[in-house]
Amino acid sequence: MPARSDEYAKSAPEPLRWRLTDDDAGQPSLFEERGWIPGRDELAGIELLHVRARSVVNEVPDGAVVPFRWTINAYRGCTHACVYCFARPTHEYLGLDMGDDFDRRIVVKVNAVERARAELSSPRWAAAHVAMGTNTDPYQLVESRYRLTRGLIGALAECDTPFSILTKSPLILRDLDVLEAAAERVEVATALSIGTLDAEMARLTEPRAPSPAKRLEAVSRLNEAGIPCGVLIAPVIPGLTDGDDSIDAVVRAAVEAGATSISAVLLHLRPGVREHYLSWLGARDERLAGEIERRYRSAYGPRADRDALARRVERLTARHGGVRPVVRDVGPRRVFPPPPVADDRQLALDVAPTGPTAVTERH
Ligand code: SF4
Repeated sequence: MPARSDEYAKSAPEPLRWRLTDDDAGQPSLFEERGWIPGRDELAGIELLHVRARSVVNEVPDGAVVPFRWTINAYRGCTHACVYCFARPTHEYLGLDMGDDFDRRIVVKVNAVERARAELSSPRWAAAHVAMGTNTDPYQLVESRYRLTRGLIGALAECDTPFSILTKSPLILRDLDVLEAAAERVEVATALSIGTLDAEMARLTEPRAPSPAKRLEAVSRLNEAGIPCGVLIAPVIPGLTDGDDSIDAVVRAAVEAGATSISAVLLHLRPGVREHYLSWLGARDERLAGEIERRYRSAYGPRADRDALARRVERLTARHGGVRPVVRDVGPRRVFPPPPVADDRQLALDVAPTGPTAVTERH
């Protein structure tokens, strides 16, 4: 069916055009001959594929060492286009490439909110913590049009389901009203991913993500509004953003922004992403690319480097005054266990992605 020119009427999400693939059931061949819709206005240069998902609340694969069991990802691909993005290989499961396609061809689960509401209101749903932002960014550019993350927040709260959101975008502030309403009812945790404060370096490595300064401002505003917001220094990139001054600057700014947690994740280079990243790096600094290739015997980088990074961040956080404690005031409906704590050990999955449902890790 051809793409229609009226796909971008203001009342997003759009009515469904196609019975397409359930992306989480993984039937890439169904993508053939389907229409990609060209983006307009702020989405110019981006193509979108509407799909109807059979299920959107996904359980993390067995063996994954992450602090959550359930995730929702309304989009596939990410307009932020980070060169190191570990979710890139998931695009290949869809018959797309992990380079430009990942950055510019975004799969949109247009029925995500409707499906989430159905699944979360099932008597079988135990209201476990759901994490958003585990694979691609829930506030990437296309969310400004589709508003699926906004709808999901409402669905999660209505179904008494605690949740967390990780993003690189201050677009999350657009949803402050629904986050505040949700926090009256369930436990809500948010975090901004900020790997460096160096705007030039961020532009180079995360070319279409909002600036670190804007992300920091979002951390402040969320915390001021009573929505707990932490900072994930991720990824720390060897040779580019792992200098003492760089990490110190992020930690200091995070403490000043009232972050409720601060942790760091060393660059991960899984098969596929490794080649993509090293090729990008090699074109700019051949010597550094060679060094990283030698050092990264495992996808997570040297264990000693990861441990040292965790200690550095802990020390710096204490030096700058520590994190702000989370005040829990979730109302009388239910008592929730503490939210997952993002740390390097927990974020590292012990399993490689095995298919379309594979959770990578927090970005
Ligand atoms: S690292 Fe996160 S923000 Fe960057 S491209 Fe990947 S999913 Fe998007």
